[in-house]
Amino acid sequence: MSNITVPVIRTPLPGPKAKKILERDKRILSTSYVRPYPFVAAKGNGVWLEDVDGNRFLDLMAGIAVNTTGYAHPQVVAAVAEQAAKFSHVCFSDFSSEPQVTLAERLNEMAGGGYRVYFGNSGTEAVEAAIKIVRYHTRRPYILAFTGAFHGRTLGSLALTSSNSKYRKGFAPLLPGVLHVPYPHPYRPPFGAKPEDAGKVVIEYIKHLFKTKLPPDELGAIIFEPLQGEGGYVVPPAGFFQELAELARMHGVLMVADEVQSGSGRTGRFLASQYEGLNPDIVLLAKGMGSGYPISAILFKEELSSWPPGAHGSTFGGNPVAAAASLATLDLLQSGLMDNAYQMGALFREGLRGLQDDFARLGDVRGRGLMIGLDFVKDADSREEDAALRDEVARRAFEKGLLTLPAGPSTLRLSPPLIITEEQVRLAIEILADVFASF
Ligand code: PLP
Repeated sequence: MSNITVPVIRTPLPGPKAKKILERDKRILSTSYVRPYPFVAAKGNGVWLEDVDGNRFLDLMAGIAVNTTGYAHPQVVAAVAEQAAKFSHVCFSDFSSEPQVTLAERLNEMAGGGYRVYFGNSGTEAVEAAIKIVRYHTRRPYILAFTGAFHGRTLGSLALTSSNSKYRKGFAPLLPGVLHVPYPHPYRPPFGAKPEDAGKVVIEYIKHLFKTKLPPDELGAIIFEPLQGEGGYVVPPAGFFQELAELARMHGVLMVADEVQSGSGRTGRFLASQYEGLNPDIVLLAKGMGSGYPISAILFKEELSSWPPGAHGSTFGGNPVAAAASLATLDLLQSGLMDNAYQMGALFREGLRGLQDDFARLGDVRGRGLMIGLDFVKDADSREEDAALRDEVARRAFEKGLLTLPAGPSTLRLSPPLIITEEQVRLAIEILADVFASF
């Protein structure tokens, strides 16, 4: 698959082989799996992903913002092979080894310093560990989260998730003590506020909660996505999280940045929090940090590290092969991929904004780096969400060889591997322009 320059669709989608696998999939796999369109992966290379029928797609979703370095990056493959040939498990909760220690040192450095690190396998495990650290350290019963947030689907993190009630339906009661406030969405401001007041009204609402039902000295933490992911790729107003962090500090409340999706260089900085000059008490990483190998990290400030041996642990957490993949990913991020994400993201958004004149139902183009949201509306004035249009755009893009994913009520998210080139960004914009012209 080297020297590929364009998507190639050879069969009707799904093709005959994909169809057969999907039929078997439907019979045996859990009905909880989502299949937004009938793609069955066979092999990948760089930003290109081929299905089992030999159809070749330009990947703008990277396995939900995971494949930071694209498919089969030679440095990642070599690091994984080298570690797998030595040992692939000893149990890091009990015995130390060097790759994970080095990884922890590097994550701490890239996040700004002052942290200790705990390793898990997934985003939701990172959130669960954060909840436990907050509880153990503060002994306070409440946690504040945002509507539109996605923090995972295990029973603790699910109590924080509120991007879609389908995630919660049938699973109550959840973890008690969780309150939600609206995310300061500049395109759809809460409480009927003007876009420029989106942040201000949320801060006022939190202060109101502190007076009326949430004693701030019983609030352990505020968990937030510095760029909301699953909720629709929403960039908060500048300064909002600084102001919130100041309010939290006044009351001894911890700030937990869930950077599971926005971290690991995706936005053009190692952490999206760094755009706001934040110094969170706890930072959560997963998805992109291992370029597809399952690993997560909880970075928590040294002063929060009071829990004793055995208070938390995991058999597989901090797997050395995944840690090796993560170290190779960090090398690549630091040797140009973060800068590329920043530049390609700016180019992508500029090109997409250029399509809004001819297609006004593309109401908003937003994001940072290569975390880009396209918000579809019934009309530009009302900004009424158009989920059906978004879903149809994703389907038609798929048929033209682009892999994308929905997020939130009416957003299409673009989260390609950070290795994407200018030529590939221009090609993606051209294909999306064709898709929009087909309506
Ligand atoms: N937190 C955020 C911000 C996420 O986007 C996700 C997954 O989409 C999670 C947590 C949960 O991660 P996982 O699916 O690895 O459990």
